[in-house]
Amino acid sequence: MMPLLNVERLSKSFGDHQVLKSIDLTVASGDVTCIVGPSGSGKSTLLRCLNYLEVPTSGAIYLQGEPVGVRWRGDKLLRMSFNELCVQRQKMGMVFQGFHLFPHKTALENIIEAPVIVRGKSKAEATDEAFHLLDKVGLRDRANYYPKQLSGGQQQRVAIARSLAMQPTLMLFDEPTSALDPELVGEVLAVMRQLAEEGMTMVVVTHEMAFARDVADHLVFMDGGIVVEAGDPRDVLTNPQHGRTRTFLARVL
Ligand code: ADP
Ligand code: MG
Repeated sequence: MMPLLNVERLSKSFGDHQVLKSIDLTVASGDVTCIVGPSGSGKSTLLRCLNYLEVPTSGAIYLQGEPVGVRWRGDKLLRMSFNELCVQRQKMGMVFQGFHLFPHKTALENIIEAPVIVRGKSKAEATDEAFHLLDKVGLRDRANYYPKQLSGGQQQRVAIARSLAMQPTLMLFDEPTSALDPELVGEVLAVMRQLAEEGMTMVVVTHEMAFARDVADHLVFMDGGIVVEAGDPRDVLTNPQHGRTRTFLARVL
């Protein structure tokens, strides 16, 4: 079967600093892939390249077989127009470490914004769906709260609901719990675990090793812009093959 996401020899440089060095990555539909690795290893850059927030220097990304960020015109591969890119990006929901909610909009208004403005849905239909999503993340009773009236964990759950409102094919998470007080991490991971159980395809950059071990189908260890080691999380975590993986795990486990 065709993988949902296929990354081939992806490289990214900033000036003469090569941050990603020929990354290969395959994600099957419904799978959860966790990416771990030391700070500065290129995890965020990889995630941002996947939806073309960063333009790769070389290599290719395919989502459901379609090249990301570029398209064929005749026998030439051209960069997509901004509008084409926006349409493609809607297939990839992204959740960041900081929650990036619109501060002057309530939880409900944050969630219905894109479906109404971008998709042209009626406010009534978008609101119905938003309440369904608020239920899913356990925040129906917070619909009319503003971000500053919510805890970090609640804000991140609203951010997840907001991404889901665009019905993405793939969800990308960049350290979604790293900015949270420790007691709030669990509620966000619980929502992500539930999403995974419902079959959402997810790529998750995280330092939460228990989540990676229990939820991920595939664990990728990155260091210095390369995939050092990847495989079943239980294998990688209990029996790492590379010294760099062992050194990293000894520090975080
Ligand atoms: P990680 O998420 O694993 O901590 P990043 O992908 O954020 O790593 O960063 C990897 C490297 O790329 C770092 O050395 C960082 O300084 C560099 N980098 C990231 N973004 C930029 C940018 N926009 N311009 C220049 N260097 C960058
Ligand atoms: Mg990062």
